[in-house]
Amino acid sequence: MFHLQWHITERCNLCCTHCYKEEKLIKEEISTSQVFEILGKYYDQLDAWNFDKSNNKISLTGGEPFIREDIWDILENCYQHREKITYGFLSNGTLITEEVASKLKDLHVAYVQVSLEGLQEINDQIRGRGSFEKAIRGLKFLIKNNISTSISTTVTTKNLNEVPKLINLTKELGVSGIGIRRLVPIGMGKKMENLMITPQQTRELFQYVLGKNKRNIGVGCEKGLFAQEGRSVGGFCCTGYNTLSVLPNADVYPCRRLPILSGNLLKDNFEDILKNSKPLRELRNLNNINKKCQSCPYFNECFGGAKCIANAYFKDPFAPDPQCWRLFKELPSQEEKFEKDNI
Ligand code: SF4
Ligand code: SF4
Repeated sequence: MFHLQWHITERCNLCCTHCYKEEKLIKEEISTSQVFEILGKYYDQLDAWNFDKSNNKISLTGGEPFIREDIWDILENCYQHREKITYGFLSNGTLITEEVASKLKDLHVAYVQVSLEGLQEINDQIRGRGSFEKAIRGLKFLIKNNISTSISTTVTTKNLNEVPKLINLTKELGVSGIGIRRLVPIGMGKKMENLMITPQQTRELFQYVLGKNKRNIGVGCEKGLFAQEGRSVGGFCCTGYNTLSVLPNADVYPCRRLPILSGNLLKDNFEDILKNSKPLRELRNLNNINKKCQSCPYFNECFGGAKCIANAYFKDPFAPDPQCWRLFKELPSQEEKFEKDNI
């Protein structure tokens, strides 16, 4: 299984306070033919790897992916290669009209994840006035067209109390699932660092969400941290293995929330980047992870928690997750340094 998360544009019709994009937008977007060239490389690479085809994914995202003028040409290309990949969108949902949803269905789009930060009042404070109503309208059109939908939310102290309400909303609307992620203070979200939830709040959030033990409510790749509660839930930060994020100019990061340049797909091939890029090799080397985590009894399930949050907070992806409740009572000082020698 391989997951390519492709930020095909940095442009967006909203301006959310926690957005990962930098204030200085990446203006260079590769052309449609360059997008096709990279898609071709991806299909060839998947053939060469001979992975289980049903699990190879492309998530088209942004910015807001539906802003890109050639989005339907890109989608048509995916459709023509649908025997090799599953494809879907990570979107703010506000541009999904009835006509768009019906076209997505015709082009076999498998899933659309829509971002919401709470019910109307809180969501619109974060994502902009009117965005809640438009996102809900988009979700309803998608559901009507039998496209699998999910809600994604970024948790801070501002919207922590909205989580149960959003879980109820998914049920009311018939949305297939909800993904709950913690804020990674990068890009514009850097200014919201003071709204990061504490380690104790993280513990309670995970207990609430994972305690519900439903397949369709989750904290995704941040789950490893929960091993310290004595419950093995699987799922840990998979950077360096079976996922890559591509930016609008074809630069490659291990993950969009971990902005470490690892290659560029106009110059490099997938295999080269995965095997040879220094940042990815370093991410795979467990000896690089700090000593505190290496001596933790849950290390083999958690691997240090979310590398994106450690990187944003401590400027070091190999530092511990600053919201780990085993190590920290409160959010630690960002100046703290962690030993890395293998023990
Ligand atoms: S860097 Fe963060 S978002 Fe990316 S895979 Fe790891 S935990 Fe998940
Ligand atoms: S100490 Fe490190 S490995 Fe252990 S639970 Fe915390 S973040 Fe995970």
